[in-house]
Amino acid sequence: MRSRHISKDGSCSRCGMESETVNHILFQCPYARLIWATSPIHAPPHGIMSDSLYSNLHRVLSLQERYTSEEAHAELVPWLLWRLWKNRNDFLFQGKDYPAPDTFNKAIEDTAEWMRRQEEDKTEVKKPTSNGAWHKDHQQQGIGWVSRDYAGRLLWAGAQRFEGLSSPVETEATALNWAIRSMARLGYSQVIFETDSQVLARMIEGSAETWPKIQPIIQDITQSLQKNRSYRVEFFSRDGNKTADRIAKEDFSFLNHVPKLYSMVPSWLKSVLEADMPSVGLNYDVGLNNIG
Ligand SMILES: [Zn+2]
Repeated sequence: MRSRHISKDGSCSRCGMESETVNHILFQCPYARLIWATSPIHAPPHGIMSDSLYSNLHRVLSLQERYTSEEAHAELVPWLLWRLWKNRNDFLFQGKDYPAPDTFNKAIEDTAEWMRRQEEDKTEVKKPTSNGAWHKDHQQQGIGWVSRDYAGRLLWAGAQRFEGLSSPVETEATALNWAIRSMARLGYSQVIFETDSQVLARMIEGSAETWPKIQPIIQDITQSLQKNRSYRVEFFSRDGNKTADRIAKEDFSFLNHVPKLYSMVPSWLKSVLEADMPSVGLNYDVGLNNIG
């Protein structure tokens, strides 16, 4: 708001607090606190909302790990967050103000509506029985990386089928971690690691807060980087990443989760790799350049 000259000082239009951060809107504003308090969601330790957006989000998105499903009310959380955000916009742009109990009731209605549609979807999917693998396929992820020498020639590539990664950043971090370990094991001492996730690059350099969920992977990565002083991670923006698409597709054809390493360009990758060649840099999900 401030950078777009809509608000003069960037303060919260509802309570006048100094800076209206996302954390303020969703958790710390008195209005948000009231809505959370009205809800059956368990309060944070000592009733204090954290100053960190990520730890607040982590807390409300991992309730089912700490409470039984009847106690957790986890299904309500996304709708409370959504209503808090919608309310803020209605308040700011349309001058509409809803009392906290109304907002809470709206979130309950949203949740009920969502669950009803989920049930409908389930019964629809069941009709064609050959669709059994559909859900499973969509939860599978593939990770891959490629290393190139200074001239862009392929040195090594790795591909692995993976399941259970919850976000693109977690997938990217897992792939990067594997790439760093592989390069060290293969004896490369000077490597620039390129990732197209700016969030990940910033978490690694310490300029962005690390999401609690991927903290262990980030820790692993920074330790490996410290051990190898001439390794560094850089953000590299790419568009039209054909090689990454190709390797991700290939991952799904793997019958198991055993990581595969290639030191020659596999036949299925040749054409896309050549097409991507003129662009300097890397074309996988996570790429590396050997400058040694
Ligand atoms: Zn406020």
